[in-house]
Amino acid sequence: MFDDPQYTGWSSYEEVVAQLKRIEATSGGRVDVEVVGQTKEGRDIHAGRVGTGDRVLMVQSAIHGNERTGTEALLAILKDLASGNDPDTTRALEGVTLVAMPMVNPDGGELNRRINVVDWADVVEDYPQLEGAPRAWYHSLRGDGINLPGFDLNRDFNPDLDYVPQPGDLPGNQRDAGFFLSPESRAIRDVYVDLQAEFGEVDAVVDLHHMGPCDALTGGPQDGKPISVSLDYPPLGVDDGAAYQQDWPLLDQDASRRHALAVANGIQEAYGSQSPLAAVGRYYHPDEREYAGQGRSAFALNGSATVLFEVRGQQDDLGQKLHGMLVRSVQTGVESLIDAMATGEVDTLDGDDFFELPDYGWDTQAD
Ligand SMILES: [Zn+2]
Repeated sequence: MFDDPQYTGWSSYEEVVAQLKRIEATSGGRVDVEVVGQTKEGRDIHAGRVGTGDRVLMVQSAIHGNERTGTEALLAILKDLASGNDPDTTRALEGVTLVAMPMVNPDGGELNRRINVVDWADVVEDYPQLEGAPRAWYHSLRGDGINLPGFDLNRDFNPDLDYVPQPGDLPGNQRDAGFFLSPESRAIRDVYVDLQAEFGEVDAVVDLHHMGPCDALTGGPQDGKPISVSLDYPPLGVDDGAAYQQDWPLLDQDASRRHALAVANGIQEAYGSQSPLAAVGRYYHPDEREYAGQGRSAFALNGSATVLFEVRGQQDDLGQKLHGMLVRSVQTGVESLIDAMATGEVDTLDGDDFFELPDYGWDTQAD
């Protein structure tokens, strides 16, 4: 559905903002919604904060504008935490501080496309030292059939959170760190840095995505059924990111796998291993896969456990029933992680058990 800016059944940017404000207003002071940045087209980027616990969880959704299940799931989670009075909610609020950014790329979202909207000339205006330098490799002149330039924001992160773009570093490549060239990635980085300053560390970061048209089938308990959600730890190359350990000693790939496992276990426990909502697998992750410029990689190198969710399909492929089901899977997954962080259970899991999750076939395929 190229150049069709429709996203029927999903919240528009305006609706997301209205819902956040309503949640804040009716939360009796539990939820605080703040503007944390602004896109190139002038849309405010919002973060909702709830809970007073020492464990910090930052969750972002729709960094790829046309990947929206996480947006709906985060709004539902904030709404529940804003008003719930059951013991689980109390435990979550006391154990965890959640900062949720439901729609971090609204310019892309309003066009129903992956990339944001930024002209290279605007980048050079922001960073005059880049005059004459080649465009970053992840900047495109168009995206999803729409003739406007922009960035794949999930390549625009650098583990050096103070990084300033240098002409000699451009254009870079897929394995390299990114350059913080977009206001959206800088806003996400700034939220992270502020939390680090306040708490000393950000325990975990979750990034919510879709994996595009996908007919992959699971193995494991649901052998042969369509995958619902796949999970991943940071893609930092061979030997579990060993090349990064010297410069980034806080990297803990096992911690990321424990957090991902808490998500998978929680979904399976909530729905039963045969439920279509619980067809959870491992995302594509051959040993050599290396994307240092992804947000989850940059934050993992700073010591956070990071979990990638990749929901089956693209938002437009999902019928209404499947849409609702996948939103519930993501919601339950994030809530399970909050609970495992609040109880400390996430520390007691065996990260190696993550590899027991079905890989829906890619592990055995040559590529
Ligand atoms: Zn994505």
